[in-house]
Amino acid sequence: MTTASDRSLKDRAAEVMPGGVYGHLSTGRMSPNYPQFFARAKGAHLWDVEGRKYLDFMCAFGPNLLGYGHDEVNAAYVDQLALGDVMTGPSPVAVELAETFVDMVDGVDWVLFCKNGNDATTAALMTARKHTGKATIVRAIGAYHGSAPWCALGDAGVGPHDQADQIFHRYNDVEDLERAVKQAGGDLAAIFVSPIKHDIIIDQELPDPAYAKRARELCDETGALLVVDNVRAGFRLTRGCSWTAMGVTPDLSSWGKSLANGHALSALTGANAAKTAASQIFVTGSFWFAAAPMAAALVTLRILRETDYLEHTIRLAEKLRTGLHAAAQNHGFGLRQTGPAQIPLVTFEDDPELKMTQAWTGALVQKGVYFHPYHNMFFCAAMTDGDIDHALVQADAAFAEIKA
Ligand code: PMP
Repeated sequence: MTTASDRSLKDRAAEVMPGGVYGHLSTGRMSPNYPQFFARAKGAHLWDVEGRKYLDFMCAFGPNLLGYGHDEVNAAYVDQLALGDVMTGPSPVAVELAETFVDMVDGVDWVLFCKNGNDATTAALMTARKHTGKATIVRAIGAYHGSAPWCALGDAGVGPHDQADQIFHRYNDVEDLERAVKQAGGDLAAIFVSPIKHDIIIDQELPDPAYAKRARELCDETGALLVVDNVRAGFRLTRGCSWTAMGVTPDLSSWGKSLANGHALSALTGANAAKTAASQIFVTGSFWFAAAPMAAALVTLRILRETDYLEHTIRLAEKLRTGLHAAAQNHGFGLRQTGPAQIPLVTFEDDPELKMTQAWTGALVQKGVYFHPYHNMFFCAAMTDGDIDHALVQADAAFAEIKA
């Protein structure tokens, strides 16, 4: 719930930060019940600046995979911090982490570390252009790959040439993908896809295997590189690359968010064929080789391999989905729950302006359950059956409230 302290921070932020809080963390387009600032987080919970507790179904928009403030991950981070973090050269932990990633994820022969997801998607674009000597990329309408000028949403601050050499197609539409590739003529450098269709506001879609396979074939036929952008969905669908289960291995893949369970680290990974090009592009950043997040990632990846975090989150997510469906029906509402249960988008039927969704999520957040009204949500492994039971009780009360 918005409190006087939260409002005061918002006002102060607006004075000294452009637009106050900007980008995806802004609650500006959500119900006024949403707190903007948080004082702390642990496990599956957040506390706002007045100490109110929320069961958090956003997980920091993805980075929180194992639970906020995970003790083992953070111990590795703190130990490495004491040894050295940002130094004049990388720590041995960088090599160990790259080796671990290569061993763990099929089709990955090398790893280029960076900070944000957009560093990795931009490095993918540059690698594909260097590898092919071509410029055009084909990507999906509405897909998000970051906020650099080549992929920023909207046209504010974007020059006329920044998004040149890009052709768009409809996700999961094989014919439209073929049309876009044809339109690229002989100039195709890459096809960029997300592992699932996870655009904001509209229904999510799982990938059609025929679409995934055709994207692979079209790259093989033209010599272009297939890029799967795992930044958001990485390690929430499988322990490896998200399209491997369909038999489709990308040439390049971008990772971020959950890689170090919330510590700042992202990566571009690739197959040997693209390694020379990846070594020739000029990409770097002052903090890219910071060792502490890499130590955190090593532990994160071990926990992913050794625990049932994935099966646990999927089971809880399906329990929530089933429970929400039943509760909505009891109150005479139709819910749309799309995408994988553990990365769900929840909206209402016949609610194109999201008025019902806004009212319901606004009521829920007031009851201590943080749902998002138009962005897909995330589960973390720290959630329990008790948390889901609690969320369902509150969801039921929120349905009753908006009905009244
Ligand atoms: N790709 C995808 C699919 C994303 O969801 C995001 C972030 N939401 C990005 C790239 C960009 O990542 P970052 O915000 O860490 O730069």
